[in-house]
Amino acid sequence: MQSDQSRRQFLKDGFIISAGAALAVMDPMAALAAKPARKVVVWSEGTAPKNVYPNDVNTAIAEGLKPLKNWEVVTANLNELEQGLTQELLESASVLVWWGHQKHGDVKDELVDRIVKRVTEGGMGFLPTHSGHWSKPFKALMKDSGSWDGGYVEDGSKLDLIVADTSHPIAKGITDFVVPHTERYSEPFHVPKPDDLVFNGKYTKPDGSTEMSKQGLTWTVGKGHVFYFQPGHESYPIYFQEEIRHVFRNGVKWLRNGK
Ligand code: ZN
Repeated sequence: MQSDQSRRQFLKDGFIISAGAALAVMDPMAALAAKPARKVVVWSEGTAPKNVYPNDVNTAIAEGLKPLKNWEVVTANLNELEQGLTQELLESASVLVWWGHQKHGDVKDELVDRIVKRVTEGGMGFLPTHSGHWSKPFKALMKDSGSWDGGYVEDGSKLDLIVADTSHPIAKGITDFVVPHTERYSEPFHVPKPDDLVFNGKYTKPDGSTEMSKQGLTWTVGKGHVFYFQPGHESYPIYFQEEIRHVFRNGVKWLRNGK
């Protein structure tokens, strides 16, 4: 835990040193451009099965965010100091991505309060995914249960991910695609009316019947935005799929910039 903090500090110090060195040899505009101005923190609780996610979900999502230019991508997890999210790290984050499942109840209420404040007052973007719909920060931001009242079935259904709002920045460059196997979350989704429905979904169950379910929705909460993205059950390698990673890159960029 401590070593992780030290590593973070080292990386930060290392960056400051290299930025200073760059200033000496580069013109100021170029030096400014070299500085990663934005930070996304990808948080998970560390419970995903190792045979699917050897380094947990946060690392898989973070890998997919690496191509983002001018973004620093940081992973954090529940088992680290201050549950992975120190005040300093939260304050410096433009966007927080959240995956939790079994340990929602372990997340401390004071951390939840800090996250909510960062979103509503500081404009930090929040991207809960899959079972993150039941995370404390999401429920607090929605002021609602966040439940999928139709239930949850892990039967390996196929998911057709459908772009519902082709003009939305989160859908940029994305056309309808297939997630081969997923867990089904069934409507209704107990949340406030979203600003945008970006992605819809059609499940094809093992018996061949189909069912529709919303997959990507956005809200404005105070000064910040929230983007919930449903795919991501831990038994399937969904966060390694390139189309899914594309959605996360677009989502992170949009959450910082807004409309
Ligand atoms: Zn699941």
